[in-house]
Amino acid sequence: MTIDARHPLPGTRPLVMGAARSGLAAARLLKRHGAEVRLADRRFAETGGAARAMQLRREGVADECAADQPDALAGRDLVVLSPGIPVEHPVGAAARARGIPVISELELGFLAARAPLICITGTNGKSTTTDLVGALVRAAGREVAVCGNIGRALCEVAESVSATGLLVVEVSSFQLETVDRLRPFVATWLNLTPDHLERHGDLKTYGALKQRLFARQQEGDWSVWNADDRAVMSRRSGAAAPLEFSAERPVDEGAFAQDGRIALAWRGGVEPLMPAAELRLPGAHNRSNALAALATVLPLEIAPDTLREVLRGYAGLEHRLEPVATVEGVRFVNDSKATNVRSLEVALKSFDEPVVLIAGGRDKGQDFTPLGPLVARHVACLVLIGEGAERIAAAWPGVPAVRADTLERAVDEAFRHARPTSAGGRAGVVLLSPACASYDMFQDYEDRGRKFKAEVERLRVAGVAS
Ligand code: ADP
Repeated sequence: MTIDARHPLPGTRPLVMGAARSGLAAARLLKRHGAEVRLADRRFAETGGAARAMQLRREGVADECAADQPDALAGRDLVVLSPGIPVEHPVGAAARARGIPVISELELGFLAARAPLICITGTNGKSTTTDLVGALVRAAGREVAVCGNIGRALCEVAESVSATGLLVVEVSSFQLETVDRLRPFVATWLNLTPDHLERHGDLKTYGALKQRLFARQQEGDWSVWNADDRAVMSRRSGAAAPLEFSAERPVDEGAFAQDGRIALAWRGGVEPLMPAAELRLPGAHNRSNALAALATVLPLEIAPDTLREVLRGYAGLEHRLEPVATVEGVRFVNDSKATNVRSLEVALKSFDEPVVLIAGGRDKGQDFTPLGPLVARHVACLVLIGEGAERIAAAWPGVPAVRADTLERAVDEAFRHARPTSAGGRAGVVLLSPACASYDMFQDYEDRGRKFKAEVERLRVAGVAS
């Protein structure tokens, strides 16, 4: 079977692992190309799983469905892994032991795509930067689909964008565990800080995974590097032409901010673009994201007026420092997407006034202690939730902290401490920026963010009614 003449697919009887969004998109793509698809998911063996499997077969998503056990490999000559499935999964390991190729959904999407890929990776800021790059490309009038970790899977849209369009893909390190042939036209690395070490082991392994994004690039391709991040710069590699971005100093080729002004360095010249203060996105970290997006689209030669217009209007994504409402003078901000220490750090730095911080959740084994001094400076009171509460309280002993066993109580407590009228209440901001994953109390960070907003709405309505 051939997906196109350039990219023969290494198998005709694939096993697709994982029946969530990415896996279903991969299965459908393979079916369209005439493959005999078997779909495996651990949930097929659970209550109600058989009915779900039957329904997927009826819908023509797969020919067969199976539990994710090594015997699902029988008769298979290719394994496609959903991003949520680790490379060490017993089925992946068994496939490799038998010499069956194992690829990620990302790689499959790349093989099927007609349009060039712009891929964006990093520890933090991927979704924001990916979405912003999509907005810039769209404003320039080019056909574009934004996909990957952000919303739709690459396999869902890979074939719908023509060769003259672009696929802008958010890439997590998970998906890079099983790529060999992925060759982005532009690949951007935003930053590297410890996260997901519970899965990748150490920073060296995690960094090496990110490097795989650049490994297959060739002359005519572009790589984009964060000149302000030493961990990224020390891992520069690949054959693509390098571009850089910096929020601190000029770069040779790329985008930078200096003395509060944003400029582009391109083909030997420097073009001033706009004052950084005109960016609508809040916070210094978002300045860096905006510069990354500008450097990423440089090879597309988009008119400066178009770039300026998009950057002045782009407000960012839900759950990332999202203003929710002001209730009795207290400003509520939803940063539920802050699932690690670094994203809490940038959130705190983007406020001048003291905040009441709601933090905690599923503990990923991160070290919270380095953030202690910043927390002490910015946080008037901590409201701790979830499994990580005790370890966080121990890491920041000098900051007043209360525990709350539900989000509802956490919001009430935070509001009480933030109201200017309450005894000792100084802060005018309640910030949900948990620095932890959400799975101990919520379905995911979006569920956590939405529930937070619903609690704020409850306070607002109660305030109006009283
Ligand atoms: P990702 O997709 O990499 O998780 P997001 O754009 O969804 O990135 O942002 C995730 C969290 O990280 C948010 O809390 C956001 O405020 C924070 N963040 C965004 N950009 C950066 C950055 N450049 N450096 C550090 N933290 C960031």
